[in-house]
Amino acid sequence: MGSVERSCECSTLGDFAVVGMGGDGRDERVFSTLMEIAKHGGDAWWLYASRCSACGQDWMIAQEERIHDNFYFKRLTAGELKMIEEQGAWPPDFVRFEDVIRLGPDHGQVARFFDTNDLTDTVKELMEVRSDISAREIAYMFVLSEPEAERLMDRAARMSWKQLRPFA
Ligand SMILES: [Zn+2]
Repeated sequence: MGSVERSCECSTLGDFAVVGMGGDGRDERVFSTLMEIAKHGGDAWWLYASRCSACGQDWMIAQEERIHDNFYFKRLTAGELKMIEEQGAWPPDFVRFEDVIRLGPDHGQVARFFDTNDLTDTVKELMEVRSDISAREIAYMFVLSEPEAERLMDRAARMSWKQLRPFA
């Protein structure tokens, strides 16, 4: 075997990076060398850590495939990874779904919903996690007008638990 130097797309990412799902295929190039090494488990179904088999970098990744369809990457130090592996203690950046959704509009990579009613379940979840969340915040997170956010919050508030659809 020759000494073929392996390259990786992950080395082109900053300490924090937003990578859209699909599109130009950058997500596939980044993930082609990444291997999952830890899962948050628990409530944070979107959160895991991976290591690059080419350059050895560890990443914390939020896979936000429900609203804005982005991957969010944060470089992990050896100490941070140790805390995750030994104590299940994750850096706080991606632990709350509210914070993860907000990263889309924060970085101008957002999805638009044809039928905003599809957002009702997520709005309800956010209201249950934080009851004082405002229509302005909901509007920002989902790129809606404030009246539309208020309408969805009313709709969510009237929804019973039984109507919640599990997300596949
Ligand atoms: Zn790499």
